Amino acid sequence: MAAKIAGNLEGCNVSIIVQQLQGAYERGQLKNALYQYWAQQVPKIFFTSAEVAISTQRTPDAVQSEEKLSRDVLFEPLEWFLCGGNPAAVFQQLQSLNNPPQLCGKVFKVGEPTYSCRDCCADPTCVFCIECFNKSTHKTHRYRMSTSGGGGYCDCGDVEAWKQDPWCDIHKQGLGQQSQNPIEKLPPDIAARAWEVLKIALQYAVDMLLWEQMGGLPQDLEPSVPQNTYVTMLFNDEIHTYEQVINALTKAINCESKEAVEFATVVDREGRSSVRYGNRKSCDEARTVIQKSTSSVRSKPLKVEVMHTSVCAHQAFAQKVLNWLGQVVNHSDGLRHILCTTALQQPPTGDPCVVERLMLADTALWKTARVQCHQIMMGSLLMDQESKKQFSVLYTRNYPQVQKDFMADDHDHGVSIISLSVQIFTVPTLARYLIMEHDLLAIVIRTFLDQCASCRHGRYLLDREKLQKNFRRLQFPLLDLKYVLSMVPDQWNDQLKRKFLNGFKIMVELLTSMQGMDSVTRQVGQHIEMEPEWESAFNLQIKLAPAVAMMAGWCATDKMVLIDAFRIVVKALLEIRGTADTVKMCKRRVCDQEAIVVDYTVSREPVSIHLPICRLLAGLYLQLGKHGLTFNSPELYGPLQPPSAMDLLEQPLRTLVMIAQVHAEMWKRNGYSLFHQVYYYHNVRCRAEMQDKDIIMLQVACAQMDPNQFLIALLNKFELMNWIEDVTEKGGSATDDLLRFTNSLVEEFLTFLIIITGERYVPGIGQVSSEDMVRREVIHQLCISPMAHSELSKALPENNNYETGLEGVVHSVASFKKPGVTGMGRYELKPEFYKDYNPFFYHYTRADQSKSEEAQLKRKKQEGESTACPPPELPALSKEFSSLVNVLECDVFVHTIRMVLRRVNSSRSRSWTEAMVHRALHLVGMALNEEKRLYQTSPYIRFNFVKKATEGGSNSLYSALHDLLGKPRIQNHADLLTWVIDRFDEVKDLKDQKQGASDAQKAKKVSSKSKTDAERKKKAEAARKRREKILAQMSDMQKSFIRDNLELFEATGTELSSSPSMEVEGSPMVVPSQYPVAVGPDRSPATHVTLTTSTCILCQEDQEVAAGNKCVVLAAYVQRSTALSKSRGKVLEDPDKYDPLLVSPDLYHGVHTSTCGHVMHADCWQRFYEAIVAREQRRALRFRHILSYEVDRGEFLCPLCETLSNTVIPILPPSSTIQPDSVSADISLSFSDWLDGLKKTVEASQRAMMKEEEDKMESSDDMPVLSPCPLPSITKNMAEMAAQGFQQLFEYMTETGAQAPYSDSVKEMMKLFSRATYTNMLHDPPLPTKFGLGLDPNDDDDRVPITAWGTCAYTIRTLEWLLRDQGKPLFGSLSSRQADCITALVRVVTVSGSLSDPQTISKSALRLLSALLPQEPMKNIPCILDLDMFFTLVFLHVTISSLYCDENTAAGGTIRGVALNDKHLMHLVTAAHLVQILLAANFTSADTPMDTEETAEGSAWVKLFMAVRKEAGVQTPVVPSGWQLQTYVRESVLPFLRCSALFFHCHTGVQSPAQLQESGVSEFEPLCQYLALPADLSSLLLQNSGADVGHVVPHTIHSKWCHYPGIKESLASGPASLVKYPVEVNRLVPLPHDYSDVINRGSVFTCPRSDGDDSRAPTMCLVCGQMLCSQSYCCQTDLEGEPVGACTAHIYTCGAGVGIFLRVRECQILLLTGKTKGCFYPSPYLDDYGEHDQGLRRGNPLYLCQERYRKLQKLWLSHSIPEEVVHFMEANASFATIEWQHL
Ligand SMILES: [Zn+2]
Ligand SMILES: [Zn+2]
Ligand SMILES: [Zn+2]
Ligand SMILES: [Zn+2]
Ligand SMILES: [Zn+2]
Ligand SMILES: [Zn+2]
Ligand SMILES: [Zn+2]
Repeated sequence: MAAKIAGNLEGCNVSIIVQQLQGAYERGQLKNALYQYWAQQVPKIFFTSAEVAISTQRTPDAVQSEEKLSRDVLFEPLEWFLCGGNPAAVFQQLQSLNNPPQLCGKVFKVGEPTYSCRDCCADPTCVFCIECFNKSTHKTHRYRMSTSGGGGYCDCGDVEAWKQDPWCDIHKQGLGQQSQNPIEKLPPDIAARAWEVLKIALQYAVDMLLWEQMGGLPQDLEPSVPQNTYVTMLFNDEIHTYEQVINALTKAINCESKEAVEFATVVDREGRSSVRYGNRKSCDEARTVIQKSTSSVRSKPLKVEVMHTSVCAHQAFAQKVLNWLGQVVNHSDGLRHILCTTALQQPPTGDPCVVERLMLADTALWKTARVQCHQIMMGSLLMDQESKKQFSVLYTRNYPQVQKDFMADDHDHGVSIISLSVQIFTVPTLARYLIMEHDLLAIVIRTFLDQCASCRHGRYLLDREKLQKNFRRLQFPLLDLKYVLSMVPDQWNDQLKRKFLNGFKIMVELLTSMQGMDSVTRQVGQHIEMEPEWESAFNLQIKLAPAVAMMAGWCATDKMVLIDAFRIVVKALLEIRGTADTVKMCKRRVCDQEAIVVDYTVSREPVSIHLPICRLLAGLYLQLGKHGLTFNSPELYGPLQPPSAMDLLEQPLRTLVMIAQVHAEMWKRNGYSLFHQVYYYHNVRCRAEMQDKDIIMLQVACAQMDPNQFLIALLNKFELMNWIEDVTEKGGSATDDLLRFTNSLVEEFLTFLIIITGERYVPGIGQVSSEDMVRREVIHQLCISPMAHSELSKALPENNNYETGLEGVVHSVASFKKPGVTGMGRYELKPEFYKDYNPFFYHYTRADQSKSEEAQLKRKKQEGESTACPPPELPALSKEFSSLVNVLECDVFVHTIRMVLRRVNSSRSRSWTEAMVHRALHLVGMALNEEKRLYQTSPYIRFNFVKKATEGGSNSLYSALHDLLGKPRIQNHADLLTWVIDRFDEVKDLKDQKQGASDAQKAKKVSSKSKTDAERKKKAEAARKRREKILAQMSDMQKSFIRDNLELFEATGTELSSSPSMEVEGSPMVVPSQYPVAVGPDRSPATHVTLTTSTCILCQEDQEVAAGNKCVVLAAYVQRSTALSKSRGKVLEDPDKYDPLLVSPDLYHGVHTSTCGHVMHADCWQRFYEAIVAREQRRALRFRHILSYEVDRGEFLCPLCETLSNTVIPILPPSSTIQPDSVSADISLSFSDWLDGLKKTVEASQRAMMKEEEDKMESSDDMPVLSPCPLPSITKNMAEMAAQGFQQLFEYMTETGAQAPYSDSVKEMMKLFSRATYTNMLHDPPLPTKFGLGLDPNDDDDRVPITAWGTCAYTIRTLEWLLRDQGKPLFGSLSSRQADCITALVRVVTVSGSLSDPQTISKSALRLLSALLPQEPMKNIPCILDLDMFFTLVFLHVTISSLYCDENTAAGGTIRGVALNDKHLMHLVTAAHLVQILLAANFTSADTPMDTEETAEGSAWVKLFMAVRKEAGVQTPVVPSGWQLQTYVRESVLPFLRCSALFFHCHTGVQSPAQLQESGVSEFEPLCQYLALPADLSSLLLQNSGADVGHVVPHTIHSKWCHYPGIKESLASGPASLVKYPVEVNRLVPLPHDYSDVINRGSVFTCPRSDGDDSRAPTMCLVCGQMLCSQSYCCQTDLEGEPVGACTAHIYTCGAGVGIFLRVRECQILLLTGKTKGCFYPSPYLDDYGEHDQGLRRGNPLYLCQERYRKLQKLWLSHSIPEEVVHFMEANASFATIEWQHL
């Protein structure tokens, strides 16, 4: 064997080491040999120099080499030795010996998606990993999705975790395999070595991690040559902040704060970090400084140690050994079993085993070491059934100590050993075993009690301070208790019973210590001075309640357990009550009925809201029926004295009366603390174990009592004895306060009666199921209003599995309405369930009650129904509770109601309220319903309300009801009164009928009733008609209002107007009969002129737009943009050298302009703006106020609509009013002559330049400048006719009267706008824009006006995309603000040429022409492939008029031939674009059209295609068919034509063709016609039919285009780098349909900067799809000297400072703009209920909603993100406080 190893490892000393190990092993000295080897090697590999000793200086290289060395030197030999051969092969062989896995056990990383099946899980902690889930049947069940917090593993295959289908398809394969001891399967020699190796390695790792002497090593690891270096090790705690740590470090080790941040990050991530390396002294010094600067009065200092480097080295290696062990046992079940056995083996010395040592030392370890220990436990012990059991026994045994350590520790729960509880206690068999054999229940509860209470005389006393301060850490035993109890046992044995009851007893002790907690005494006179603390009791209650409820559930499953438990609780209750001496009793009388009651006045003596013992007993009472027990079954009590009904009643009644008094405002002086308690008492989170149980207890007591006595006890406790005896009324001396209190208390009392007798929807009380209970809750919620699924869920209590039962019932009572593009889907109650509405439903808050009543009233009125909400019909009571109803017919009840009604009837009485009447009538209704129900269901009844109520003649309750009829003071309840009287008569009839009365009377009654119904219907119908009429009138008024105020609606950009804006404004002068043409001398007259008059929003004056008038401006927002970029990520390298004139077709960088459309006078706006600036300057002196806009960047909010703006666009008059078309009409110059002239111009200028250059003799590296040559020098070489035409065309007219008469103000505003575009394009951040007349330093830059032209083209291109993206027609679909924006831009741009320095403009024109009509190749002039043709068209349109200007030409002139130039330009640029398209074509297959005949155009295209490609020297592997080519060309050129049409439409005001106002029609031909282009565009490049069409670009030019330098290179670099035509609209990245795929992508993403660590906040850029590690120090970078988070850094390269992201964990959209602004936005992922789930709180499956994603796409493409962010920030103050730059 050894020889074979040597052979395989030739040349490597591994073989020697292996041989040595083998030798030692054979001698039985393997441990010594290994220790010696490690002692030698480990300090050499780890922490060898300052570079690797100090955490932050560990470069990736250093880490890697350390990794490699430890692998090669340390692990490799060990593996070879262990395997006795090549490890890779041996491990693989071992793996094949494994039983196919039946358990998945995949350990989750932070953020990994987990799935739980709501139908099948045993408890909510059972989860699947994504792989298993996708291969399981649960995919089709109701599942819940969430992200793992790290730790925990996949439960696939665990039969106890799932009620059905515990295996996915993968792990099903492991079923039915014979399980054999896995060790026996191992080859014996490997097994023998493994026992040794694994033991030594584990022992070593644990010894080293727990090593406490920092100065030196254990003797057997001491190296032969001792070193003398140390490090200062800084440890993590959760007390000190990042800032404190950073601060301390900068002082202690004198580092930059950036480095300190890195240290702090490492400390936080790993739990410790070495911060200094050196001799002992210097390390000690650093430690002292850190400790000094972090200790304060309140906190202890940071933990710092000085460690010998060799200790560090061995600890680093120990961590690696643990990892290695985890890997090794992963290969083989046998090896795993060996490791587990070793770990659990108690050494002969009697010391604890390794696992126990780790358990007890957990809090002594640092973060990563802990996590590694937990991981190896999970990967070995918990994966092996037998070991898991042993482990759990150890864990239970050490539970109290481990919890105690955790309490003293400061690390999070997730990195503590106690987080493993969930892995053990949720396994039902294990939990049961631990309860039975190791008394787990008692241990857990006792542990909790010991942590927070002290025991005195056998009673526990809770330590309030501990509860208050440490509850977050204290609560874990309570959670564990929930796990342990989650599975109710299906079988009991004596031992289980004994141990359970033992635990139950301790629980009762705990509850006893809570009983009566935080009692309060009503404050009279003065308000309390200090609000008492109340939260801790409620925290305890909330965490304890589920466990208590589950314990009651356990009791319910066995009669004997139930009885024993019942006795324990009764005993506790009786002890609390005290002896009879301490309870004072007294006698009370009401109408001849007498009762002995407890004398205790709630308004004077202390009362508590915490009665857990009473409530536990109430819960047990409900279970009695299941086992045939009754309240009085003798076996219940045994030796105990059964408690009297009064004993049961007293405590809960006090609490309820106190709450009634709080509602009656009698406890106002007790402050907020009490109000909060009452709120939670009733709140959905607590009420099941508080309010509901108290009501049940009262019902229990009531069922056992005489109803009269019960009512007297209630009246007494409510302090209403005087009222019922009529004392107040008689004495008449009651103060207002007293009267008010009494009235409110009577209301509360009556409500209380409604609840006690009416709340029967609890299984056990009424004959109902738990579905009925949930259904009723749902009905009542939906009676408030229709609700979304989440709102409904929130209103319902959750059970232990977080289930509300909602889904099971909601469809039976409600219908679901789907959501639109915004909002949520909602459930609406089905109409037939409105009859179940009870306004006094006991879970309604007061607000719910009034809202629901309002809603019902409104609905009933609309439907013409009676407005009464009578008491609904109720289910029957169960046997034990059947006597509850007797309350509704007893003498005291009838007396009480009569009393109320009599007072209402008495005109002088002050002691009545409407609310009282309402309740009294409701109660009477309930009594009648009950009697009716009983008549219908049982043959004998003793219920005799009707009889009692009619007794006494005119003094009877019945006649009191009749007396109320028509009384105005009860008007609001008149309908209810009618209903009650009708029901009364009905029940009376029933009763008579039972006694054989005639039917005739009844029939009469019914008919009278139906008559009133009919009348009501008629009235309602009339009311409905009236409503409709009013609505119609209003709608008419609204329409005419819109008509009258059209401009207003247009200007504000609302969507009210249905007519598209571009076509409505201005007066339709002449409707052109001919087809509209917008280009050239023959263009149609302008009929569509917008922006002619406006109202200044600041001074409200109307202003006509004309050249000489006061300048008006639009508020505008100019932003740099990469939205159109086809080279995402390409950034402007050198702004100083950027040439904005020759724009690359990938449009990687542009400036977009938008406006809110609001118009102001320029001077009004300037004053407004200056005021803002001044205000901000003043404000800055005092304190920094966070604004949503940045004044120093020129930003402001539109004074009307608060839209973000940063400049203004001047509104200029339409060109048609300035330059009449007639001027240019008579010039004639053919296209070829025009082309010839321009070509000559370029040639001549180039020659001139080159000559100049030669003269200069490369004296400077200045860019060669093309200067135009004078016009005559061109025309002299032309034919006479052509020369004349050319001359006329370009003759500059400054004195012909056509001079543009723009005011200074206009010019100033134009300059301002250009400056804004310029700074936004070229400065990052944009320079502050200055206002006023001062000259900006940038104004000298020739590029300033060009950037303004560029933004015009860019904005038009954007709008074209937007329309295309939404499938809208080109014309008539833009919003008014978009239309206004481009109209204003086009006007500014077209006159800007004539307002700037003519010579500069002329040079620009010449440069454009040299690119378009290339002659000699020139530097800085690109080939046509690198030119965006729409930009070129716009720029040439602006500049060509000034082509022949010289230094003598003054600014402000114009030429005649604008229109003709436009036409020729259109032809030339289109032709160039076509060649561009042909060159860039990349056909991969040729279509063979079946039947299509080849058209002339098609063959022309093929000819051209071949020609230009041959000319350019490109390969054409595939020759497309003519038809294919024609389609391609037409599609490709379309975006250009569409942009051009928009441009000329805005420029000329020529009506758009009707075809282009519809969607879905072919646009190509209408566009060509509108732009004066031939429909067959090939005729621009090829003389087709022989006839001279007059606009062919000659072949010589094609050839220049194709031979220009750069063409070949561009084409050769392949289609990927070329812009593809047709240019497609950029979209946000496609997102997966299922959100779990997104989570998964987020979970596999690791922080790119910290060596494979998980990212805490993975965030996806929706523009480019890149995943980022956001909101984390690790990925901060510097931007302009400030640290920013990954998202902020990313938007500067990806989105020009604007970004849209998906935050994966939070499932929310993040919008960012600039460094300081951002907002969160709902994600486009919705659940089946049409709701998004921010933070994945509900966990329903989420799917992408395409409409909502399209909405986001539109938001992004329309450049509205900054605007949206500012709107959000203005509306939401909390957004202003978020430091967005750190995201
Ligand atoms: Zn799994
Ligand atoms: Zn599985
Ligand atoms: Zn399932
Ligand atoms: Zn004004
Ligand atoms: Zn506005
Ligand atoms: Zn990171
Ligand atoms: Zn991006």
